[in-house]
Amino acid sequence: MNSAAPAPQTPSFDGRALINGERVAARDGQTFDNVSPVDGRVLAQVARGGAADIDAAVGAARTAFEDRRWSGLPPAQRKRVMIAFADLLLAHADELALTETLDMGKPVKYSRSVDVNSAANCIRWYGEAVDKVYDEIAPTPSTALALITREPVGVVGVIVPWNYPMIMAAWKIAPALAAGNSVVLKPSEKSPLTALRLAELALEAGIPPGVFNVVPGFGAEAGSPLALHMDVDCIAFTGSTRVGKQIHVMAGQSNLKRAWTELGGKSPNIVFADCPDLDRAVEAAVGSIFFNQGESCNAPSRLFVEASIKEAFLEKALKLVPQYQPANPLHADTVMGAIVDRTQLDTVMRYIDSGQREGAKLLAGGQAVEPVKGGCYVLPTIFDGVRNDMTIAREEIFGPVLSVLSFTDVADVVQQANRNVYGLQAGVWTRDLNKAHGVARALRAGTVHVNQYDEDDITVPFGGFKQSGVGRDKSLHAFDKYTEVKTTWIRIDSPV
Ligand code: NAD
Repeated sequence: MNSAAPAPQTPSFDGRALINGERVAARDGQTFDNVSPVDGRVLAQVARGGAADIDAAVGAARTAFEDRRWSGLPPAQRKRVMIAFADLLLAHADELALTETLDMGKPVKYSRSVDVNSAANCIRWYGEAVDKVYDEIAPTPSTALALITREPVGVVGVIVPWNYPMIMAAWKIAPALAAGNSVVLKPSEKSPLTALRLAELALEAGIPPGVFNVVPGFGAEAGSPLALHMDVDCIAFTGSTRVGKQIHVMAGQSNLKRAWTELGGKSPNIVFADCPDLDRAVEAAVGSIFFNQGESCNAPSRLFVEASIKEAFLEKALKLVPQYQPANPLHADTVMGAIVDRTQLDTVMRYIDSGQREGAKLLAGGQAVEPVKGGCYVLPTIFDGVRNDMTIAREEIFGPVLSVLSFTDVADVVQQANRNVYGLQAGVWTRDLNKAHGVARALRAGTVHVNQYDEDDITVPFGGFKQSGVGRDKSLHAFDKYTEVKTTWIRIDSPV
């Protein structure tokens, strides 16, 4: 552990909002402390945005959209600016990675190799795509022409969580901006800093003022006014299912804005006794739940292992646990960093208590630790003997806690895997092709992984069934969220 880690000087961060191309304080001058979970230091005073700030940002976005300073550009021109924007992220990679780590606690090596790179890649990919997608002509009778075109939806409100602040923002702003929309982004109050820098870099790349605005603040104070705003055409939300449900209500209560939600998960990972490579299955199961301190919506938090191999599986899994000891995330070799804040740490500890109270067997971890004084850290935790109806198997913990269940029957395990309100992702491990396809089809999840749990690419859709949300991020499908489909009928009086 890195208890003797020197506390590097805190860089100076500008926590003001970015509205209409300018850094501005909240209209009422209020700020809040932005506290680092690494060691409890205050990183910055951040503008505490409210309804008046959201109103100003939406006004700026509306004006920019209506005067077509961005939406009216040829797609090839928007492409060039988006690519310049992506390049600027990479040029500032070290700064952005350090900011992300200080702000939300993930290991700096992943902030740099995963978060900055994925966000830049996403922005580049949508930029590159936008001058390669064609519209349609319908197969109508020859007396008329029906053009089916896509138009930007207008002003897009974006609300994101704290677990992958840059990536979650990029998944939404990149297709929205590439399609010609104007955006107002409200980052999480727990991790607002990189969003503000992204907006500055967008301006530097040539995205005109007013097109991409960022208003930091709390959910009820800045998020709700955005979701309720009568001049916002679309709200794209990533976060908890509890708030996601409110987002759909707010959309309906206001102007029926398009509402898209990427929500929670409790993903099942099913390992059959004929798994082709037990070591790989163990590494993926353990690595995926402990990556990002378990704060991943798609983490395979319910592990179903066929009874005949469970003992061997757990023996291997426990040998890997020491690799995931939490340590100072600012150190280059750390793989498990800090939990985002004390509230989330308390939530994780409450779930660990409930697992013990309800009779699950604690095999590893189960404690909060302090490898860096004043920081928020939890040991990687594994429970065996979990039943699907226990709280730790039903509810999303969003921490490094793996629940292990066992099974003996294929139909039964599929039923158990599906018996949950979420349906984000799932895993299946078997060398039997029929079983792999049959189970993958039967699982109610937006993504099913077969004999791996790590594959990810900007080219594939990401989103959930059931209460894991509505709509898909990533891939060309994401353009569906940020465009309206228009039909234009043209009469043709044939001269011949
Ligand atoms: P959260 O729902 O508490 O907050 C998410 C965002 O919503 C924050 O910006 C917050 O300020 C805002 N918000 C809160 N209350 C609001 C309100 N009343 N009106 C408008 N906005 C409001 O979620 P969180 O704790 O930040 O993030 C964790 C959750 O995000 C987990 O459930 C996780 O599964 C989910 N998540 C899902 C995906 C996905 O793609 N499916 C990806 C990442 C995270």
